[in-house]
Amino acid sequence: MTHARVDRTPPAACDVAVVGAGVIGSAVAWRVAERGLRVALVDDHPGCGASYAAAGMLAPVAEASYGEEALLRLCLESARRYPAFLAEARAASGLAVPHQTRATLVVATDDDDLRALLVLHRYQDELGLSVRRLTARDCRRLEPLLSPRLRGGLAVDGDHAVDPRALVRALLAAAVRAGVRPVPHRAAGVVVTDGAVAGVRLADGSELTAGTVVVAAGAWSGRAADGPLSGLSTDLVPPVRPVQGAVLRLRGRPAPDGLARTVRGWVHGSPVYAVPYGDGRVVVGATSEERGFDTRVTAGAAHALLRDALTLVPSLGELELVETTARLRPCTPDNAPLIGATALPGLVLATGHYRNGVLLAAVTADAVSALLTGEPSPDGMDAFCPRRFAGAGADQEVPA
Ligand SMILES: Cc1cc2nc3c(=O)[nH]c(=O)nc-3n(C[C@H](O)[C@H](O)[C@H](O)COP(=O)(O)OP(=O)(O)OC[C@H]3O[C@@H](n4cnc5c(N)ncnc54)[C@H](O)[C@@H]3O)c2cc1C
Repeated sequence: MTHARVDRTPPAACDVAVVGAGVIGSAVAWRVAERGLRVALVDDHPGCGASYAAAGMLAPVAEASYGEEALLRLCLESARRYPAFLAEARAASGLAVPHQTRATLVVATDDDDLRALLVLHRYQDELGLSVRRLTARDCRRLEPLLSPRLRGGLAVDGDHAVDPRALVRALLAAAVRAGVRPVPHRAAGVVVTDGAVAGVRLADGSELTAGTVVVAAGAWSGRAADGPLSGLSTDLVPPVRPVQGAVLRLRGRPAPDGLARTVRGWVHGSPVYAVPYGDGRVVVGATSEERGFDTRVTAGAAHALLRDALTLVPSLGELELVETTARLRPCTPDNAPLIGATALPGLVLATGHYRNGVLLAAVTADAVSALLTGEPSPDGMDAFCPRRFAGAGADQEVPA
């Protein structure tokens, strides 16, 4: 992905260097610059990481999982902030960002899938989340393209979706308009002077002076040897590992009778989703595999996604298959992000957003900008403090 024209002259000193220009780093850089700090955004491939593959679901409720209640609260808070976040990003960038606000459907294909769906519904109910139980007929009334062979479903009125590529373009443009300086380089380490961060070492050997460094390098944040934190004690390198996700992109003509809303479901135990952007494009996803830093899409993954998606929505088979893409979700040991200060003065993390980085961009950017400007942070951020894994170190056995 490209953004506004970049300048390759050596970077000037700044207050804050953000390393990584995915959805998280771009949102953080924009929000911090809006508050008047001088910000540089370091990335040789902005917008080309996990954010490029994401479907863009803003789905705290459908994604709710046992044992992840603090994460659920953070996701709900970010969803609450999203309408304003999007409106401000559109206004600040002058760019459109498609936003799908129809209720998400979660459907079941066979009796076992229905049992899993009812277990999820009971859990959502216990948490007081707003979810409607639907018969198969109700599901088809809401979404006529669904297969007639489904066993039933749920409607989640508050789970929506955005086009994440359009969002990242808008965030990058908004950031540049707010004064952020794009630095099209790889970060090769953090410069430390007198026990505190003094800047970023770039891969060409030059240094960017900055009193604060925010690492938002997605799945690469945890690489101790050649990542943005190389050279630091491994205690400071967060335990972030890559989890591969593959998606397929389909395209048809924009039609009033096309898929109108996000459909998620289980097909004989396998999860699958189809997310329409309202202009004929549909994203089908997603696999989840521990394959190190490998981003090849296997034939088996593409086959399984198409097979399952067409089981839910048979007419998707008529669309053109335009892209297969795999990228790396940044995952932590507890599936929750790392947002906040580390033990090294000046080093801040905004990473590890795993399955929910697009959704969590709004609250993450607000939390980091509040931290850097001394404003009150959003409630509940302590649960995501990077220091909760102090000592866990990196150097995990992740194949290159
Ligand atoms: C298939 C798939 C589907 C998904 N669907 C959804 C969804 O529907 N909803 C949702 O909320 N989330 C979804 N996610 C998760 C979401 O995409 C991620 O959580 C999010 O994109 C993470 O954003 P990020 O900015 O932290 O990382 P990334 O987007 O990976 O960006 C990291 C950036 O850091 C840069 N970088 C790395 N190392 C360096 C370095 N040394 N120097 C400079 N720059 C560096 C990279 O070039 C990259 O641009 C999905 C993910 C996948 C893979």
